[in-house]
Amino acid sequence: MGKIHKDDIEYVHVDVIDPDSIPENPTGRFLSKEEIDVKIPPVIDDYDNSGCTLTILDTITKKQIVVESKFNTDWWACGNGSCDCNRSIEMGIWDELDKKQHNEHPELKEWQNLCFGYKRFLIIKSDSDEYSLDGFNSDYPDELKEEFLKR
Ligand SMILES: [Zn+2]
Repeated sequence: MGKIHKDDIEYVHVDVIDPDSIPENPTGRFLSKEEIDVKIPPVIDDYDNSGCTLTILDTITKKQIVVESKFNTDWWACGNGSCDCNRSIEMGIWDELDKKQHNEHPELKEWQNLCFGYKRFLIIKSDSDEYSLDGFNSDYPDELKEEFLKR
């Protein structure tokens, strides 16, 4: 978990009708009926704006792209960027994989998805001092890493 940015604190307007529906504010105090501008808990930031630059390889098409990411290396190594889902977005083929998954899993609702897993997109280069390429691809199969990572 990264730091919380004050810019990420959002305010929402709620109309309080039923006293039982009055939301709890972030301090744990229940808001009075008069308080209609409810401060909702800040979004926990997944990135700290430090960003990073890395290269992702599609091990099927062999296409490589350099990503100037707003997310930091933690996000790519351990967070949402550590699996094929977000890596496929960067590669521009999320829609294609989504369509394929829905064909294979007709039980999924249109808006549902399973994780694409750790099969296809490896980070093969980065400007990180913190993570090795193994660290960026820790859940990917060894065979894939043996084949495509220069270590
Ligand atoms: Zn995923």
